[in-house]
Amino acid sequence: MYNKAMFELGNQPSVIRELFAYGLQQAKIVGPENVFDYTLGNPSIPAPAKVNQSIKDILSDMDSIAVHGYSMAGGFDGAREAIAKNLNQRFGTDIKAANLFITCGAAPALISTIKALLADEKSEIMAVAPFFPEYRPFVEENGGNLVVVPADREHFQIDLTKVESLITEHTQAIIINSPNNPSGVVYTEATLKALADILTKKGEEYGHPIYIIADEPYRELVYGDVKVPFIPTIYKNTIVCYSWSKSLSLPGERIGYVCVPDSCENAEEVYKGVAGAARANGHVCAPTLMQLVIERCVGEMPDLKAYDENRTLLYDSLTEMGYRCAKPDGAFYLFVEAPNGDSQAFCEKAKNDFNLLVVPGEGFECPGFLRLSYCVSNDMIRRSLPAFEKMYQAYK
Ligand code: PLP
Repeated sequence: MYNKAMFELGNQPSVIRELFAYGLQQAKIVGPENVFDYTLGNPSIPAPAKVNQSIKDILSDMDSIAVHGYSMAGGFDGAREAIAKNLNQRFGTDIKAANLFITCGAAPALISTIKALLADEKSEIMAVAPFFPEYRPFVEENGGNLVVVPADREHFQIDLTKVESLITEHTQAIIINSPNNPSGVVYTEATLKALADILTKKGEEYGHPIYIIADEPYRELVYGDVKVPFIPTIYKNTIVCYSWSKSLSLPGERIGYVCVPDSCENAEEVYKGVAGAARANGHVCAPTLMQLVIERCVGEMPDLKAYDENRTLLYDSLTEMGYRCAKPDGAFYLFVEAPNGDSQAFCEKAKNDFNLLVVPGEGFECPGFLRLSYCVSNDMIRRSLPAFEKMYQAYK
């Protein structure tokens, strides 16, 4: 016997991975210059030079046993103190090392937080469409019920009326992700304040806190003078799940954290619950070398010039052709309306006729849209524009 649910999860094809694999295959046949792959959210700018220099310094200057050894489960004090200091300087908060639990990226941070908040089999966690597809297994495979807040298909802010109507006595938390994957939209302060008011009111009505789980791997990927509000300063019951996968281009190094500020109701219980959930999932510690790197590089910011140029080129070109798309202020995605409303058909035709690989919105619980990851070369975008034009003409 074996676990059928786990088998099914492992056996399910990932649309994104399948498209990516198709692109690699096609590149061998038609040449890489004729494949336009917008599938993966893999950073295309290098990590800041200080990251690589720090790795070299740590390896040459520090005791090898310490560098490669275990740390405490929640992480080294030095790294946690550096992160807390950085957050406090930037957001005027009072976060302490003890509020931080260092994880192997945002995904384990989210799983531990979700697991820590699921009180019983009736517990519900909300997510605002469109959202990162992994939220569903993160919630459901930990015994929770995922409640989807349908997308605001015009501006991709949060449909607050729907949030309010979907909250029940079983709602434990709402996951929000800003800057958003896949829409690239940054939730405004007004949206977040209104959300906070609803959660406060409903929490009082049901007699327990409804937490915000702020999934923030794209916090620093924001363009122009747009500000990404730090949600714990707007809503006290906010737990932040962060990662350096995108901001420092370190997705393979697996480093991030959960932050449970003291302002959260039951902060101590939630923090210990996060530690317990991490333990139950086999977390021992986040990579020690990376913790030492973060201690030195927490203040580093990505150079967003290349992403910004891609964003402008793609957004301006597609909207000029007639495509409709919410203005992306952050992350490295564009969420474009399929010209005939049928995202699956569009993606299939784009793939078959032009080797143009874009991801249908269905996986993000928002059919009718196409996700384009523009963490690619500017040259590839330029070469792909005639294919987008022909697709628009075929479907408009
Ligand atoms: N959350 C969102 C919205 C993401 O897009 C991703 C990765 O693409 C993650 C979480 C997981 O990030 P990590 O690589 O840090 O686990």
